[in-house]
Amino acid sequence: MKAPKVMIVGFDAATWDLAKPWVAEGFMPNLARLMAEGARGQLESILPPITPPAWTSFTTGKNPGKHGVFHFMESTPDTYALRYTNASSRRTRTIWKILNQAGIGTGTANIPFTYPPEVLNGYQISGMDTPSEKSAFIHPPELREELERELGPLKLDIRFLGFMNTDERRDQVLDEMRQMDEQWTHVGLYLLKHRPQDVTMLVFMSIDTVQHYFWQFMDKSHFLHDPAAEAKFGDAIRNVYQRLDESLGKLLEYTNDGTTVFVVSDHGGGPVSDRVVYLNRYLGQLGLLCYQQDTNNLLRKTLRTVLRRGYMFLRSNLSSRQKVRLAALLPQLRLKTESFYTSFTSIDWSQTKAYCSEVLASPPSIWINLKGRKPHGIVDDSEYENLRDEIITKISELRDPRTGEPVIKRVLRREKIFHGSFAAEAPDLNLDWWEASHFMTGPAFPMIRMNHR
Ligand SMILES: [Zn+2]
Repeated sequence: MKAPKVMIVGFDAATWDLAKPWVAEGFMPNLARLMAEGARGQLESILPPITPPAWTSFTTGKNPGKHGVFHFMESTPDTYALRYTNASSRRTRTIWKILNQAGIGTGTANIPFTYPPEVLNGYQISGMDTPSEKSAFIHPPELREELERELGPLKLDIRFLGFMNTDERRDQVLDEMRQMDEQWTHVGLYLLKHRPQDVTMLVFMSIDTVQHYFWQFMDKSHFLHDPAAEAKFGDAIRNVYQRLDESLGKLLEYTNDGTTVFVVSDHGGGPVSDRVVYLNRYLGQLGLLCYQQDTNNLLRKTLRTVLRRGYMFLRSNLSSRQKVRLAALLPQLRLKTESFYTSFTSIDWSQTKAYCSEVLASPPSIWINLKGRKPHGIVDDSEYENLRDEIITKISELRDPRTGEPVIKRVLRREKIFHGSFAAEAPDLNLDWWEASHFMTGPAFPMIRMNHR
């Protein structure tokens, strides 16, 4: 057996806030051993601290302004439309290729935003941006056949979990997460054994998922905390940390004294806030954003177009397993889809100076409708700085009615956090939700509200 020179294990969204106490309590003996024998530290993520740019910065050593991956979605050039981001938006070299060029073999599995896979001297299995299980997400292609022959059909990590409102559904999701962790552990062990490389990396996604949907069950101070449900789901997150520690232990068996091991995360996690800001509505109140005064006919026409596009997107981007699941939830899904897209398509661009792409509401950011950048841009370059100053001032005036405190404590101008050839693709204003402020953004649904009157 050839041990790797470097083995990297990624725990997406793992946070010391949880891992440290659980290490101390004995739930994570393998991480405890690595911590005792090695070095550890608090990772500084990139800004904003979200999965697509964070792992891409890890892989390239560059800020998003230099690699070009900013978010889960990105604006298409010359239109206001949005599309899902994947690794084809990354416009710089990865460490894997650089190592290959130095004669060092590399193999990576399940790193987010690596689809389509790179042609590496070694292998690459793409991560969460893989559109479907039918996609060619493994290089070399014969490796997929080999893995599926040995381990059964490969599944992609579960996504689109917004409808988890019953205990039955929660149990089902926890079970699917366990299956996914087992699959990736088996894949990782198989690759270490049969496709050894100098440098290997494997990422597990389940901590991110479980923290998103189960935090309130363990956190007694959470506004959604339900003591009755705590007994059932209070340990859900800890169970995942514990399980991944066991997987880490198995992977470590393939290392030797010459192997450098990294356990890394891309960002942290924490509870959501019950303070909701409707950014586009607020921009509307400030006279900076204008909705179209549609007739019902146009409304219906828009809705039809929008729904068709939405369903086309879902059809082409979901796995069959996801489609089956979504079909059962279709009435809710339809409402969500309508609301989701309508709010964005109903903006009157010819009278809008600033907007929040609500499809990207988390994390929230604001774009200026600059002349020359978008087809209906109305803001002159000479007006740009004053407009950004005005918006920052107005945002600081939004107060929590319960405490009188500002809801959004920090707004970062684009050039504060992004630099490089692609920095101009980033939002003009980035609202801090990760450090000083705690809030969520909600979409404005002007047309849906009109329908309900
Ligand atoms: Zn992440």
